[in-house]
Amino acid sequence: MDRDTATATGADARRRLPRTDAVLADPRLVEAAGRLGRALVKSVVARALERARTGEIPPEAVADTAVATLPETAGGLRPVVNATGVLLHTNLGRAPLSRAAREAVAAACGPTDVELDLATGTRSRRGASAVAALVEAVPPAEAAHVVNNGAAALVLAATALAAGKEIVVGRGEMVEIGDGFRLPDLLVSTGARLREVGTTNRTSADDYAAVLGPDTGFVLKVHPSNFRITGFTRSASVAELARLGVPVVVDIGSGLLRPEPALPDEPDATGGLRAGASLVTASGDKLLGGPQCGLILGRADLVRRLSRHPLARALRVDKLTLAALEATVRGPAAPVRTMLHADPRRLWARAEHLAAELRGTDVDARAVDSEAAVGGGGAPGVTLPSAAVSLPAEYAPPLRRGTPAVLGRVENGRCLLDLRTVPEEQDAAVADAVRRVGKTASNGSDTGRG
Ligand SMILES: *Cc1c(COP(=O)(O)O)cnc(C)c1O
Repeated sequence: MDRDTATATGADARRRLPRTDAVLADPRLVEAAGRLGRALVKSVVARALERARTGEIPPEAVADTAVATLPETAGGLRPVVNATGVLLHTNLGRAPLSRAAREAVAAACGPTDVELDLATGTRSRRGASAVAALVEAVPPAEAAHVVNNGAAALVLAATALAAGKEIVVGRGEMVEIGDGFRLPDLLVSTGARLREVGTTNRTSADDYAAVLGPDTGFVLKVHPSNFRITGFTRSASVAELARLGVPVVVDIGSGLLRPEPALPDEPDATGGLRAGASLVTASGDKLLGGPQCGLILGRADLVRRLSRHPLARALRVDKLTLAALEATVRGPAAPVRTMLHADPRRLWARAEHLAAELRGTDVDARAVDSEAAVGGGGAPGVTLPSAAVSLPAEYAPPLRRGTPAVLGRVENGRCLLDLRTVPEEQDAAVADAVRRVGKTASNGSDTGRG
C-alpha cells in the first residue's frame, strides 16, 4: 500500500471512529461496568479505540474488541495454566490452593469470627482454629503461630529470641532464598549478631558447642532447600544440636508437617520437633500446598514469646490466609500432593490423547517424556518422571498471552506442556488454547508454524 492510500484510509477510519459514550452504551459493556467498575471498562474501550485509530481494527469492531479484551476480574492478577513442570513456581504464586481452601477463602470474605467466640460472644485469639489444626496435625508441637511468610517467621524468632544476642549458624547454611534476599542479611536486620561456625562443606556439633555462652540467643539450622552440597560433607543433626542446652530453631523451608514418602530427603515439622528442635519454621505455600504464610511450631513458652512480641502485630496474617491454611491442613489432599503422586503412566496417556486430538486439527503435536521438578525452594535436584505435549516453539508466546494464559517451557526448539503440573480437568482448556493458536498461525499471524 502506498503512502497516500495509507493516510487516506487512516483519516477515513478516524472520521468513522465511534464516540466513547456510544461504545460504553453497548449492553455488554454496561453489564461489565457493573461487575468490573466503569473506570476499568472505560480504559479497555480507550485501548480498543486507539487500535481503531491506528487502523489495526476497523471502527465498527471497537465494541466487540473491547468486550473480547475485558479482564475476567477487576483484580489484575490473571489465572495461568501451569504447564511448566515446576510444581511450586514462585513466579506463579507457588502452591495452587485446593478447592476446599478456595471455598474457605470465599466463605471468609465477609465478616467472620476470626477474633470472636460466637458461643460466648467474647473476644478470642485470632485464628485460633487454624492454629489448633496445625497443632493437631503435628503432635509434638505444643503450640503454633502463623505469620506472613517463612522469612517473617525467621525474623520474628530472631527478634524475640536473639536481638542483641548471637544466632549460631553453620557456614554451609547461609542461604540466599531468591530475588537477591539472603537469610543472613534478614537475620542481622533484627539486631541479632550471626555467629558462623564450621566450614562450607563440614560442620560438627562440636563447632557449635565451642561458641555457646551467655550471649547465645539460639542455634539455627537452615534446610538447604534450593541447592545441594555433595561430596566430602557433614552437618550436625537436629538431635545433636538439641543436646547443646540452648534453644534450637530449625527452618525446614518446605512446610511438610509429616514425612513425605515421595521426597525422603525433605525435613518435616513432626520429625524436627521429635528430634528435639525447640521451634520449627516453614512456609505455608510450598510442599504444604497452602496459602502464603509462615508457620512457627514448637515449645509453648517460646511460641508465646514470639506471638506476644510487638513485631508479631506487623507480621500477622489476614483472615483469608487463616481460612485457606486451615482448609489445607484439615481438608483433602492439596493439589501439590496430587501432582507429586501423579502416576507417570496416566500422565503419558493424557499427553498421547491430547497430542492425537491436536494432530487431528493440524497441530504439529506429539507426546514426549519429560522431567518435572518440585521447584520453589523444595527438594533441590529431585526430578519426577513426567509426560508433555510437544509443540513448535513458536506456540509458547501466544499461549502465554492467551486467556487463559498457558505457560509451558521451551526446550530444544520445542514448546513442552508438562502435564504433571496441569490438573486433569484443565486438559480440555489446554487443548482449546493450543487449537486457537494453531488457527491464528495458519491464518498467517506472527505465530508461524513449526
Ligand atoms: C522458602 C524458604 C524460606 C523463605 O520462605 P518464604 O515463605 O519465601 O518467605 C526460608 N528458608 C528456607 C529454608 C526456605 O526454603
